[in-house]
Amino acid sequence: MKKCISVLMMVLLVATSLFATGTKEESGIAKIGVSMPTQSLQRWNQDGANMKKQLEAAGYQVDLQYAGDNDIPTQVAQLENMIVTGCDVLVIASIDGSALTEVLKQAKENDIEVIAYDRLIMNSDAVTYYATFDNFKVGTIQGEFIRDALKLDSTPGPYYIELFTGSPDDNNINFFFGGAMSILEPYIKSGKLVVPSGQTSKAQVATLNWSTEEAQKRMENLITANGYGPNGNRLDAVYSSNDSVANGITNALVAAGYTKDNFPIITGQDCDKPAVKNMLQGLQAMSIFKDTRTLASKVVEMVNAIVKGEEVVVNDTKTYDNGTGIIPSYLCEPVFATVDNYKELLIDSGYYTEADIQV
Ligand code: BGC
Repeated sequence: MKKCISVLMMVLLVATSLFATGTKEESGIAKIGVSMPTQSLQRWNQDGANMKKQLEAAGYQVDLQYAGDNDIPTQVAQLENMIVTGCDVLVIASIDGSALTEVLKQAKENDIEVIAYDRLIMNSDAVTYYATFDNFKVGTIQGEFIRDALKLDSTPGPYYIELFTGSPDDNNINFFFGGAMSILEPYIKSGKLVVPSGQTSKAQVATLNWSTEEAQKRMENLITANGYGPNGNRLDAVYSSNDSVANGITNALVAAGYTKDNFPIITGQDCDKPAVKNMLQGLQAMSIFKDTRTLASKVVEMVNAIVKGEEVVVNDTKTYDNGTGIIPSYLCEPVFATVDNYKELLIDSGYYTEADIQV
């Protein structure tokens, strides 16, 4: 019964969509499907909006869909719909990078090119290009920030740290966490940096769906189990791969009594509004600015080249193997953001207004 209803819904969805937008054959305008993972995190709303705006400005029809709140079956159904309604190119930020193999077989059968957006889609030879930021560099910038802030090279230590990364189904964490560990691991090995919980493997420090609540719970448990606190055991830094996870860590530390005067060093990524506000209040030390406008414009260039049959410009052909081979990639530059340069990066560039991040 449930299956019948979902088939019926699918048919209705397809019919409505055909009626509403028409196919390329009818309109002569190429149609681009843009599939985003969730609307619950600011960055994906910005990515979606930037993509739609820039693709429409370039003359394309755009079918932009968000998969509820990281709901994998919804993302698959939305992609099926984009395929049957005649999208010419699919741009996909996957939820689970390994869950799209089947649906993308249909894309390949229909000669639809697939661009993996920000996150690599694994185990599918339908993926033709990948556009993202230099994810390993994101991790090394974060690791170097902790190294320098704790003065690991010029003071005896030891210093105490806990580690958090993102969703285990997101291939990006291999690069974020891997990059950060490439800097921090030697100090952990030498004993200058100590992880009191002993939780250092990717599986132990992952945060499903990059959830703020999950990160907060884990940080609360770590505080209890290890006796951290402004009047308890020392905690000098918490490595966090992004801002949504950092926000959960910060909530737990504030509840444990830490203030801006004794706050551990916390890293992040995205320059989400709540994280920028935390930075301005001394509750997060840094973030990484990934200008989603730049990524969107790179993807629009890729789409243009694909549609016109021209050569697609990439700048990396050796890093990202999705299990079917190396995917030619364009890597944008991530930039380091702190209270010292946020104005220039975020306000002067028009990314935010002062009001957006007012505390
Ligand atoms: C993105 C990050 C983002 C995270 C959570 C990652 O794949 O690269 O920018 O913070 O997902 O949405």
